[in-house]
Amino acid sequence: MELPAFFSNSLDILFPKSCLVCNWPTGKEYLCKKCKPKIPDTINKCKKCFSKTSEGKICNLCKIMPLPFKSVKFLWNYDDHFRAILKVAKYKPSYKLFQILGEISSIHVINFYKKNEFDLITAMPPSFSGLKRRKFNQSEILIKEIFKTKIAKKRDELLKRTSKNKKAQVEIKDHRMRFSNTKNIFSVTKNLDGKNILLVDDVLTTGASAISAFKELKKAGAQNISLFTLAQSTFAIQFRQMLKANDGINQKIRKFN
Ligand SMILES: [Zn+2]
Ligand SMILES: [Zn+2]
Repeated sequence: MELPAFFSNSLDILFPKSCLVCNWPTGKEYLCKKCKPKIPDTINKCKKCFSKTSEGKICNLCKIMPLPFKSVKFLWNYDDHFRAILKVAKYKPSYKLFQILGEISSIHVINFYKKNEFDLITAMPPSFSGLKRRKFNQSEILIKEIFKTKIAKKRDELLKRTSKNKKAQVEIKDHRMRFSNTKNIFSVTKNLDGKNILLVDDVLTTGASAISAFKELKKAGAQNISLFTLAQSTFAIQFRQMLKANDGINQKIRKFN
């Protein structure tokens, strides 16, 4: 519930805010100047995977092995700057922090997508251990904010986790193992015939879970699936280079292109 301006202003005086990431007293802001995410870099980015490229519109890796998504967009690289935010998001889970990240995302997604470009916007389901720790789905909070920009006609929970025994992806250090861990971990029960979908996640680490979610949405009939994340880790590129060397997995992904 939104408080009337008068009350929220007086609450600000009574309880001056401090930065959600570093605790620095800020007065009125939830993030201090140092912790506020930088303006995303959108120059010289690959049209398909949004990685920095000097190789033209489509990067060399996408020419050989494109990701199955119609488009991939993210705001920040998972560098030290963004890592600090995510560390707090993980160990001191705050609904407010994700709400603010969602508000910041909304400012930028309107430059990426057209109004009503998607029939549906949906969040990546959290791992069981992540949900237990945070008590909320961080991506769901992000899409609540992003949905206000009207880039999608409807917001819906399309994906469900299927097995409790699967480990959270972050617990698996061997990135090659991440693919087998993500096999059949999601299910979709709705008919998505011909739908254009925007899938939202907080961080793209290897992309293995996102590809697993992609397959299920595709099986349910979706026509196009695009992916939006707050940040992308450098592993995402390394992982794809590694997949290129592993033909078995390579072909599995190609099948959906
Ligand atoms: Zn701070
Ligand atoms: Zn690319």
